[in-house]
Amino acid sequence: MAKKQFKAESKKLMDMMINSIYTHKEIFLRELISNASDALDKLYFRSLTDDSITLARSDYQIKLSIDKGKRVLTIEDNGIGMTAEELENNLGTIAKSGSLDFKKENKADDMSIIGQFGVGFYSAFMVSDNVSVRSLAYGQDQAYCWTSKGVDGYTIEPCIKDTVGTKITLHIKDDTEDENYSDFLEQYTIMGLVKKYSDFIRYPIRMMWETNRLKEGTENEYEKVLEERTLNSMIPLWKKSKSEISAEEYNSFYKDQFGDWEEPAKVIHTKVEGNATYTALLYIPKRAPYDYYSKNFEKGLQLYSSGVMIMEKCADLIPDYFSFVKGLVDSEDLSLNISREMLQHDRQLKIMATNIERKIKNELLSMMKNDREAYEEFFKAFGTQIKFGMYEDFGANKDKLADLVMFTSSFEKKPVTLAEYVDRCKEGQNTIYYACGETVDKIDLLPQAEQVKDKGYEILYLTDNVDEFALQILASYKDKTFTNISNENLNLDTEEEKQALEIVNTENRDMLEAMEDALDNSVTAVRFTNRLKSHPVCLVSEGMLSLEMEKILKQMPNATDAKAEIVMEINKDHPIAEKLKELYDTDKEKLDKYSKILYAQARLIEGLTVDNPTELSNMICDLMV
Ligand code: ADP
Ligand code: MG
Repeated sequence: MAKKQFKAESKKLMDMMINSIYTHKEIFLRELISNASDALDKLYFRSLTDDSITLARSDYQIKLSIDKGKRVLTIEDNGIGMTAEELENNLGTIAKSGSLDFKKENKADDMSIIGQFGVGFYSAFMVSDNVSVRSLAYGQDQAYCWTSKGVDGYTIEPCIKDTVGTKITLHIKDDTEDENYSDFLEQYTIMGLVKKYSDFIRYPIRMMWETNRLKEGTENEYEKVLEERTLNSMIPLWKKSKSEISAEEYNSFYKDQFGDWEEPAKVIHTKVEGNATYTALLYIPKRAPYDYYSKNFEKGLQLYSSGVMIMEKCADLIPDYFSFVKGLVDSEDLSLNISREMLQHDRQLKIMATNIERKIKNELLSMMKNDREAYEEFFKAFGTQIKFGMYEDFGANKDKLADLVMFTSSFEKKPVTLAEYVDRCKEGQNTIYYACGETVDKIDLLPQAEQVKDKGYEILYLTDNVDEFALQILASYKDKTFTNISNENLNLDTEEEKQALEIVNTENRDMLEAMEDALDNSVTAVRFTNRLKSHPVCLVSEGMLSLEMEKILKQMPNATDAKAEIVMEINKDHPIAEKLKELYDTDKEKLDKYSKILYAQARLIEGLTVDNPTELSNMICDLMV
């Protein structure tokens, strides 16, 4: 029989089809299995109206087999098969999809035809140098065999095949320097690919599995045993209705699919119809994976179309601040591109992403309300990411996320939300007080906290680097602003206290200036304060940049020399105040030393370093002897 040319004319196009549209060669198996599944769907659909089809639903299957010696991989189905004409039309014409036509002609619920572009089949040539398709169409007596070595063309000839269906035989290419094609002749590779892409094909995908077993009656003699295995799990859990799925099933599905050994903290299963129709099965893990806060971590949800995996990690489905969410989205109406690896345009994807984000937030809020303990655990694991989300993108998402964040409160040292803080604000309190430091205990001892606590205000203790940046960008919550208790002016003094303080500061202006000179521009001012009760000294900052922020910015890889404007404040009622005044009158040199020591102490309290520890130590020693 004469060789015929491909109808799409140019061999170049064929070559492109084979070698350029797919990024991963391994997807050929996904494509051929999908075709087999479509063929089974079609026969099943026919059987609904055709009594002569006696195959039971459970007999529909896809069979794989490997012959390493011959370098052959076969994919066989007992589906509808192809006539000579169909072989010609479907496999001889690029971009002709018999399956899409079938879907258009027949509308049925219980069918999930995958094919649509009419190119997937040619992906077989990415890994094989000879492909033959033997097929007996349902209702025909004569089987036909389509054979091709790739771009040069194909032949169709009658052949012998007793059972209805299609058997595709791939002769696997020889290995090259770049590509180890032999891998596709390994049973573990094939099983892995089925699991990865075709796990939820609704028909069993079976293969003869080879194992070595101890020969009976011997102690060290092994024999090869072949037994049939079903490689796919078939049931897309998410397609069942929620009421049919047990917690156990949800959890073990999570562990299997997403490689966690712990149960998830929360399962979110949602079916949406409307602007975008999809099912999402999402999980919030209990713990952050070890690489979560590293740049190796890749976010994303699995994306399925008709039960076939299209993308392993679709990043666009999930915002960065919810990147800890694992799961999958399945949608029948995605506009896939021709390789079915990517989406054509992302309008539907955007709608889905927006819905998913809203859903996750609502689920987190309900968890906060109904299972506080679990929420606190969750926030311990992933709170930093959410606070980053507030700060990122110039605060574009801050308002969405503000309801979800928690900080340790000075009351009872327990995590509280911003809403809870605001709810118990004192009358007339129009700001939310916070303090920063390395640990809750250290912050609790800050001299600056004394007056605020004394007056009965609650303080949020910020221990994460990102915290203060997040609150500053948030600027306010329910009309309350945020104030760092180390800010220069907290306005907590009564009128009387204010006046008394002003007098002390004016009377001792010269002495304070002498101290400023001694500190040589390290601070913008030295002054007396009411904010300290038992402690002698503290640092406060003027302007937006706090000491804590300065510290963090300094640690960043692209460190700036942004400096906080700091004021050294001295407790006007502490004995040290009298001592300083006395030194100003009697011993100016000693006043210099005292100023430096006080400043160094205040820096240490803040967790800052001292510029010249040797000088400090010597000065203290001088006072000791
Ligand atoms: P698509 O699946 O997108 O339609 P393919 O290139 O994968 O495109 O397949 C082209 C056509 O060949 C299919 O639409 C179908 O009509 C036919 N076909 C492929 N494989 C089989 C098979 N195993 N059994 C029956 N028909 C098949
Ligand atoms: Mg196909």
